[in-house]
Parts: sequence; structure tokens; C-alpha cells
Amino acid sequence: MQEGIVFEVQRFTIHDGPGLRTELFLKGCPLRCDWCSNPESWKTYIQLGVYKSKCIGKKKCGACLEVCGSEDALEFYRGKLVAMDDSQREACFPCFAECPSDAIKQWGNVMSVDQCMEIIRKDKGYYERSGGGVTVSGGEPLMQSDFVAELFAKCKEENIQTCFETTLCANWSEVEKILPVTDIMIADIKHMDTKIHKKYTGVGNELILENLQKVAETGKELILRIPVIPNVNDDMQNIAATADFILNEMHGNIRTLQLLSFMRLGEEKYKSLGLEYKMEDVKVRRISFQKHVNAIATYFNERGIHCLVGTKEKE
Ligand code: SF4
Ligand code: SF4
Repeated sequence: MQEGIVFEVQRFTIHDGPGLRTELFLKGCPLRCDWCSNPESWKTYIQLGVYKSKCIGKKKCGACLEVCGSEDALEFYRGKLVAMDDSQREACFPCFAECPSDAIKQWGNVMSVDQCMEIIRKDKGYYERSGGGVTVSGGEPLMQSDFVAELFAKCKEENIQTCFETTLCANWSEVEKILPVTDIMIADIKHMDTKIHKKYTGVGNELILENLQKVAETGKELILRIPVIPNVNDDMQNIAATADFILNEMHGNIRTLQLLSFMRLGEEKYKSLGLEYKMEDVKVRRISFQKHVNAIATYFNERGIHCLVGTKEKE
């Protein structure tokens, strides 16, 4: 039986796919989007994060130091734990178990397909009544495609709808493993210019666009998303190029295009992992930005692409 590394399980979610859903977030992502709100998903392995404001102090507690035994692995400032040596985070977790104040957070757990199914089955009645099911997201779950393929196959045996949220930044052979057991796919177009795509996500867009075309050819139900990021991909030149791609290369073969307005999320998680949050200086005037996003949606709809703002599916 396959095992996966899952960093979060959410029940009764409504954003990633229709109806009420159980959503599993898997670790590992080949992209590094500047605006990512889940930096704990990036590494494929289980990590520990440090929330220094929660540490009650080395003098009062010191449980992590005691169990670790390595002064080099744990960094304290003014008596509080502020960081860990990254190389220690991969395999060594006794300090997490000992911390009495949640100052050390473990990102990721090994879960078997059966363990996941036990959680998924609990809400079968809700899926049936709401048209929902299970969604696997990330990170990039194609980095654990064998695990997802087995999990989704079990779901299909039990008539549970499956939805797969992906960057499509993977070899087609990985996508092929999950296509037969996936009912709905959710994928992004982040930028049509590969150089700009690389600048803001760490990878070019060629493989993603090629895979999007291939998915469109299969006729698989596809929800396409654009995370609308100010001064990155929200200019009309890029928006028009995106519309051209959807109409010409994907033959308009999508269920919906969803526009997700940029939100500052996940800053604390960056700090806990000792990572830089690159959107720190991006200021958004919420009302005018929302008007701009609405205007982009109008543009897509006028070009014949069914486009909504947000993740909620509407007719
Ligand atoms: S175990 Fe937790 S609360 Fe205690 S010193 Fe370490 S980080 Fe701080
Ligand atoms: S693809 Fe998603 S999970 Fe990966 S870095 Fe970008 S926003 Fe984060």
C-alpha cells in the first residue's frame, strides 16, 4: 500500500471543487511562486517550523534543548527559540513532541491510503448531498502521483468524486497515472511569458502549457485558475495572450476560468521556516484592485470564456 506525506487535511472545504469536500494537501512542489501562501508545502520531506512568539523560554522550559542534546541545532535569542538548523529538520522530531506551547510545528505526516480513506469516508453523506467529494492539492501532488493514483482508485471504488489540483509541472507520464481516476482537474495559468513565469515561480511555463493542451485534448473536466498578482500577470497584454491560449490551444475546453485575487497569506509560516516572504512590500488597494480583477473577468467572458472571480462555482 502506498504512503504519502500529507501536511494538512481539511474537512468540509468549499473552495477546490464542487460541493463539500475533504481536502488533502501533499508535500513537495517544483515551483517557488513569490506569492505562495503554503511555503510549508515546498519540500518533499517533513519539516519543523519555529513560532518564536509562542516559546516560553529556555529558562522556564528548555525541553527541546534537553531532548535534542545539540546546542548547534537549536538557535535561541534572548532565551527564546528562534530557528533550527535546516539539516536537523528532516529526520529528527523529538523536540516537536516535547514542546509544551506549540512553538515548534511539524509540517507533514506520513499517511497510508487506508488512513486517508478512513477520514474521507466520514463525510460520504455530505458529498452525496452537496455534489462534493475529495480533493488532493499541495504543493504539487504529482510529486506523489503513485500515492494519489491508489487513493483515487479507492475513492472511485466507493463512488466518491475525485478532484486533483495541480501545477501540471511534471512529466506527462505522471499526469497519466492519475487521469483515469480523476473526475475534475484544477490547474493554473500563471503567466504566458516563460521568462516572466520563471522570474516569479522559479520555472518556465513550457511544460505546463504543453500539459494543459494535452489535458484539454482528453476532454477531462478542467477548472482553470489564474492567481491575479499585481504587476506580475495582471496587464492586458498577458491577459489577452492567456485568452488566446485557452481559445486556440485548448479549444476553450474548460469548465470555468477562476480568477483568484492576490491576498497576503502565509507570512508567519515563512518566518517559522526561516524563509523570506517576497511579497512583503506589495501593497494592494483592495477596492480598486478588485475592480481591476472584475474587469479582467468581463474581458474573458466577452471573449467567450466562462470566467468567475473567486473559487465558488456559480451558474
Ligand atoms: S520546548 Fe518549546 S517552549 Fe520549551 S524552550 Fe523549546 S521551543 Fe520553547
Ligand atoms: S505552485 Fe502552489 S504550492 Fe507551489 S509554490 Fe506555487 S503557489 Fe506554492
